[in-house]
Amino acid sequence: MYNLTDVGTIKEILTRHGFHFSKALGQNFIINPSVCPRMAEESGIDENCGVIEIGAGIGVLTAELAKRAKKVVCVELDTKLLPILDETLADFDNIEIINQDVLKTDLAALIKEKFDGMPVYVCANLPYYITSPVIMALLESRLPIEAVTVMVQKEAAQRLCAKVGSRLSGAVTVAVDYYAKAQKLFDVSAGSFMPAPKVDSCVIRMDIRKEPEIEVSDETLFFKMVHAAFGQRRKTAANSISAGSGIPKDVVIKAIEECGFHPAVRAEGLTMQELALLSEKIGDLLKIR
Ligand code: SAM
Repeated sequence: MYNLTDVGTIKEILTRHGFHFSKALGQNFIINPSVCPRMAEESGIDENCGVIEIGAGIGVLTAELAKRAKKVVCVELDTKLLPILDETLADFDNIEIINQDVLKTDLAALIKEKFDGMPVYVCANLPYYITSPVIMALLESRLPIEAVTVMVQKEAAQRLCAKVGSRLSGAVTVAVDYYAKAQKLFDVSAGSFMPAPKVDSCVIRMDIRKEPEIEVSDETLFFKMVHAAFGQRRKTAANSISAGSGIPKDVVIKAIEECGFHPAVRAEGLTMQELALLSEKIGDLLKIR
């Protein structure tokens, strides 16, 4: 079995296979030996679970997941990594690598086909360039998954785990909180990767809610309003919602007034319940226009 966090070993394998890191594919592999065991340990998986990993690299996290779960299916886009993974993960019989772009993968079909009713978790050191689309796709598609544990850039982690209604919150915070309960697990320094990225990272875990955090009668309107509200953070909620969503300004102003909010309130000053109330009011006012 290879020591996949040993720099000498990694260099030997990569050189032998003629592999070169791709910046475009967000290839920063973990070399800090404590990170992957801790990530796997704190992701909630056990020997009865299935795990989806996104981006195997040379398999350092994949191996830790496979030691703890029943089955690991990893979606890896870079074909050049396949012969390497064949070698580094040869000792495991519970890992399947799928050579695909995760953003083009039908994950609902994959779960049905590969995991046969097992509780399914997602655990990944995400390529940074697709952090938001991957997380949103995992949450919005309402996949039958228990939790998503991912390594993301520190700044992204702060937004994803912020409290809705606080200065750090944004549209993505609201979306995450709607579908999941997010928490920060631990920080990971830039020096824990090869090659080292410019910024530090953080591992976060999102436990999927069985029911959304709040009740809204029109989800499309709610998210349209939320995206517009946080789209221009310096503006008042009334201005940014009307400018970014196409909802008439007088409707937004009246809705804010009927909710009892200050006319100059900003999106980041509204809680989840308040945002839900505002979208309900806007929906009611639009119906009677
Ligand atoms: N899990 C490894 C680790 O922790 O060392 C590698 C993580 S590295 C940050 C991201 C991995 O995702 C790379 O192996 C990269 O090739 C892969 N990747 C990049 N874009 C992808 C995509 N669209 N779909 C699937 N995998 C992708």
